[in-house]
Amino acid sequence: MDPATGLRAIIAVHDTRLGPALGGVRMWNYATEEEAQFDVLRLARGMTYKAAAAGLNLGGGKAVIMGDSRRVKSDALLRRFGQFVELLGGRYITAEDVGIGTRDIGIIAETTSHVAGLAGLSGDPSPFTAYGTYLSIKAGLKKATGSDELSGRKVMVQGTGHVGLALVKLLRKDGAVVFAHDVREDSLRDAVVAGARMVEANEAYTLPVDVYAPCALGATLNPETVPRLRCKVVAGAANNQLLNEDRDGQALHDRGIVYVPDFVANAGGIINISVEREGGYDRNRAMKLTEKIRDNVERVFEIADAEQLLPQQAAMRLAEIRLNRGPRSLAMPISGNPVA
Ligand code: NAD
Repeated sequence: MDPATGLRAIIAVHDTRLGPALGGVRMWNYATEEEAQFDVLRLARGMTYKAAAAGLNLGGGKAVIMGDSRRVKSDALLRRFGQFVELLGGRYITAEDVGIGTRDIGIIAETTSHVAGLAGLSGDPSPFTAYGTYLSIKAGLKKATGSDELSGRKVMVQGTGHVGLALVKLLRKDGAVVFAHDVREDSLRDAVVAGARMVEANEAYTLPVDVYAPCALGATLNPETVPRLRCKVVAGAANNQLLNEDRDGQALHDRGIVYVPDFVANAGGIINISVEREGGYDRNRAMKLTEKIRDNVERVFEIADAEQLLPQQAAMRLAEIRLNRGPRSLAMPISGNPVA
């Protein structure tokens, strides 16, 4: 809390066994401090599992700044946030998230060196996250229907911001019929320009589609929504999609819906950032490594089938093996299969 700049923020460091805790800073108009705390703790834990499952030498952390990014955000506030990151001495590395863009990260970098995703280096992670999500959708379709063909498939993209819009474009390129909803008119308009069909908020859950792709905020898979879904696959970029991992994951399974665990599907951004941290950032290498997400999703389905686990539990199993094993040797490929 910093009254001079109006900064109200929480930084959560969840796990540093594999490396420094890396996770974006989200700026959101939380109703209460408890809500912000709930979000940041869930998100930080999600980052631990995401980095581990992707085979990266990074830990899990996250930060939230409370307030409407369009009204409260200022350069002074961002610099002050950077000073708090700096105080942690590198145990937490910050990056973009909802409400915080590449320019903002540049401002934060004026007061701390512990930032990732700077313009000119790995930059905007969204195209990588969208690409990994797109590959996860294909892997989910293959599992559910036996074919990963997207042409003519119906996909509901909820949230057409940075990642959602890029995803709409990838899906449209493959001939998918894309439906979109966003609470912001400008974001939705961009999706329509990219070829999506606009739908109302409620239809995001009830529309008969092949895939529901949550790309807005978390916890959209809950007892209110899961019974209404009319899809074969859930695969999207939003973090922490299951309000309750076991209960809502089981509910999806019972309804015969294939769920691609969010932290496996949306690892493209962190994989991209990890390439920046190797030094000598190479965009092509980052894209190539992002392609491994499809293998990771398939591995998760294999573990789930072999051990009678829900996909989310199988993904956590994959991550925990890696966490217990410790950091990979630098000679190993960055996304080497941690259980192979
Ligand atoms: P963004 O802020 O650019 O887009 C989010 C969009 O969701 C906004 O347009 C917002 O208006 C919309 N939205 C919010 N609530 C909504 C609701 N109830 N219904 C419909 N739309 C709603 O953020 P982004 O970078 O595109 O990230 C999207 C999601 O993916 C977030 O959950 C984020 O944490 C996650 N994620 C993003 C990245 C990345 O590389 N940007 C990486 C991993 C995970």
